[in-house]
Amino acid sequence: MGTGYLDQLKQEAFEVNMGIVRERLVVLTWGNASSFDRTKGIFAIKPSGVSYSLLKWQDMVLVDLDGNVIDSKLRPSSDTLTHLEIYKGFSSVGGIVHTHSPWATIWAQACKSIPILGTTHSDHFNGDVPCIPYLVKDKVENAYEKETGIQIVKFFEEKKLKPIHMPGCLLSGHASFTWSETSSQAFENAIALESCASMAYHSISLNSKIKFPKYILDKHFSRKHGVNSYYGQK
Ligand SMILES: [Zn+2]
Repeated sequence: MGTGYLDQLKQEAFEVNMGIVRERLVVLTWGNASSFDRTKGIFAIKPSGVSYSLLKWQDMVLVDLDGNVIDSKLRPSSDTLTHLEIYKGFSSVGGIVHTHSPWATIWAQACKSIPILGTTHSDHFNGDVPCIPYLVKDKVENAYEKETGIQIVKFFEEKKLKPIHMPGCLLSGHASFTWSETSSQAFENAIALESCASMAYHSISLNSKIKFPKYILDKHFSRKHGVNSYYGQK
């Protein structure tokens, strides 16, 4: 594994970390993104507490799936173990974005899933974006970040949700995580989530009895995702 390769992984993670700031999904340092190479078992993630204005791609921290930091003086994001557990639990995921973007966080703080109300949401998320319950006290006190990741994976298993069909979630009282096969797609999902969260809030305030038909959801999701997709250029 050459240095060039690891530099590329760092650059990928850096681009997404800067992207979430540029798209106003992050204020201060309330967010982090990572990029994973499953064949090497290594991901690159933002360093902890470094201001985005000072961030360089060389600062991205490489971590393996045992949580070992590879060749860096900087400590990785405090949320690293959440990313790690998601990579371990979701075998199709290659990029993760965590932000406290305001609209998604409003739903998370209200402990409510974002309901599926229209086709914009359907293009990215195949149903309500779930809000996962608060972690219990013991888990928060002992291994908060690791338990957060474990709880996300367990929730998806229990609800039989496919991470690629539902590429994100809310955490009660906290904020959102999105993911995808690549970090740039996870970034897109973070933008989509924030936009859908805002639209859902406003749509419900106009009509609290919306019943968006499942056949329209199915049509929109499947034309962009899966074997029969036909959206975009061949
Ligand atoms: Zn957070």
